[in-house]
Amino acid sequence: MKPNEGKLQTGEHILAKIIEDKFPGTKVIIVRFEEEKGRLDVSSENDLRAVSLKELEKETNQIIEKGLEVRKTIFKREEVEKEFDLSKIPESVKEIRIVDIVGFDKRPCRDPHVKNTREIGYFKILKVERKGKDRYRFEFEVD
Ligand SMILES: [Zn+2]
Repeated sequence: MKPNEGKLQTGEHILAKIIEDKFPGTKVIIVRFEEEKGRLDVSSENDLRAVSLKELEKETNQIIEKGLEVRKTIFKREEVEKEFDLSKIPESVKEIRIVDIVGFDKRPCRDPHVKNTREIGYFKILKVERKGKDRYRFEFEVD
């Protein structure tokens, strides 16, 4: 595991949830992590380049500062398939790990995460770019 991966991953869940809530219909396409940076690609009917990154960054950090517990629990696929969109997870995967940022967001993910949002530190949103007809890419890092 890269040193910042758990922080970037957990921060990404928070950012994705905020964007999904603000712009209903927005969906996460793919998330990638490099040594120091993360990239979140989403599809949306809204032009997300018009979003204030400062505002989004502020809202993300307000959640981080709450010090929410991050729980990881493994469920059988059939136990959670109604609650979550598992379409991107191959049918052969029978056990689904749910990452629960308690009281804020739950989603399937098998990657490393921190145990408490406060461990993320400061989450900085670097830019948003359009990457196709309705595809937008957010880049971020942690401090
Ligand atoms: Zn994750």
